[in-house]
Amino acid sequence: MTRPYTGRFAPSPTGPLHFGSLVAALGSWLDARAQKGRWLVRMEDLDAPRCSQAHADAILRALEGYGLAWDGPIAYQSRRPEAYGAALGQLVAAGLAYPCACSRKEIADSTLEGIEGPVYPGICRGGLQGRSARAWRVRTDDAPICFEDRRLGRQCQRLESEVGDFVVKRADGLFAYQLAVVVDDAWQGISDVVRGADLLASTARQIHLQRLLGLPTPRYCHLPVAQNAAGQKLSKQTRANALPLPAQSALLAQALEFLGLPVPEELRGAPCPALLSWATVHWEIPRPPT
Ligand code: GLU
Repeated sequence: MTRPYTGRFAPSPTGPLHFGSLVAALGSWLDARAQKGRWLVRMEDLDAPRCSQAHADAILRALEGYGLAWDGPIAYQSRRPEAYGAALGQLVAAGLAYPCACSRKEIADSTLEGIEGPVYPGICRGGLQGRSARAWRVRTDDAPICFEDRRLGRQCQRLESEVGDFVVKRADGLFAYQLAVVVDDAWQGISDVVRGADLLASTARQIHLQRLLGLPTPRYCHLPVAQNAAGQKLSKQTRANALPLPAQSALLAQALEFLGLPVPEELRGAPCPALLSWATVHWEIPRPPT
């Protein structure tokens, strides 16, 4: 049975909307609307010191300004610690997660480089040996985890050797992004994750957690990531909100072009709703790099 299309945009409100997050919001919105699906917004505000309600509100006002209307209430991860605690409890009860006493330095000193820094060498897998727990990690194995990305095709990763047992609750007491995103994608009934390719490498970890927790795996589509001339991911530099209307429409046109939908001459300068109606009809997943 295919689930009704439900997409989402899940920004971390650590700053205002920037061009990179506008592209992710727009791509997931267009994919949902083109399939007559729902589109939800979730604030990934677990990292309280780095996030603020003011940034969350500014992002929401910016989405409204672009005409990227969402369905249903906004979800806030900061309000759901019980749900993440229950998921961790489920993993621990099944022997799938364990406490870890290792410091960053210990891990960095003793190990192989993986796809995102050092691979955890499993020091605490067999127990804490009298040391006190700092973080919680989920067990991995080396069977490849594969999925079909709608843009990039088949992707496979061996977690144990490429990432290692990864953190699901951090030493500072915060639940990790990987756990929260999996719990919330299932809770919100997300059928389709459309997001930037900077998160491609996280997907196998998320599928692993979905399998361990008995949760469904959404379809995934990783969009190109906007970069500046120096090849760095665009973030705070290009603020995409609080712009006057003509600038907003020009930036939306630029984001559409970035996603492979150059706005036709007769629509140049048209207000955002007109650009979005046109784009919903013409939306296609952007081509993969050649
Ligand atoms: N909150 C993450 C970010 O802003 C995105 C999470 C996701 O789309 O899975 O990078």
